[in-house]
Amino acid sequence: MFKNPGGKLKGLAKVVFWLELILFILTGLIVIIAGISGSEISINMPGVYSTRMSPVVSIVAGILIIAFGIFMAWLSTISLYAFGTLVESNEKILQIVGSRRPAAAAPQAAPAPAAAPAAAPAAAQPAAYTLPQNTAGKCPYCGTATTPGMKFCTLCGKALQ
Ligand SMILES: [Zn+2]
Repeated sequence: MFKNPGGKLKGLAKVVFWLELILFILTGLIVIIAGISGSEISINMPGVYSTRMSPVVSIVAGILIIAFGIFMAWLSTISLYAFGTLVESNEKILQIVGSRRPAAAAPQAAPAPAAAPAAAPAAAQPAAYTLPQNTAGKCPYCGTATTPGMKFCTLCGKALQ
């Protein structure tokens, strides 16, 4: 439903722009035509503007309305269009981040089931533990046979490490 909201905002900005432009140009043209035809125009905007315009004034007013309308249409559209562009670029950033996230997660997940790091410490631990022990199989003092892991000779009682 809200797919590509940035693009829709930009589309809306264009519609708003042309609607405002047409509205102001039409109003301006009516005022100008009325001025050219020589009829007086009575404008009554309560609290804002209230006058009876002479033909020359209405022609000038008509041109001003069109100029003002173009400016207003541009002003209201530019912010909407800019916002649409912003939303669009934000969507693109989210897409890039979103596409990177699973790619980064996949290599992390792959080595985990292999459990290679878990097997390595298990093999290294006994090796590190037995290394300082007596591995010769004989007591260096009396020559009695020893088993790996023995701390003292069973015959002479001397330390085997
Ligand atoms: Zn011994």
